[in-house]
Amino acid sequence: MATTSGVSNGMREPCEECETDTLHEVSIQLVTESRSEDNAQYSREPYRVRECTRCGNLDSQRMNNA
Ligand SMILES: [Zn+2]
Repeated sequence: MATTSGVSNGMREPCEECETDTLHEVSIQLVTESRSEDNAQYSREPYRVRECTRCGNLDSQRMNNA
């Protein structure tokens, strides 16, 4: 656990702020959403959250686009 591969969550992707390819820290987060008035119906949707390590710009994108 102490060893860092440097590849696990580092993605080189275009950043809108930097307007170039920068290194991003990417993580997957489950966000609880309530889609209806029914409180019993909660769905946990995976979001792909990435943060630019250069400018710190945060960007989250929903993975399920059904
Ligand atoms: Zn950036």
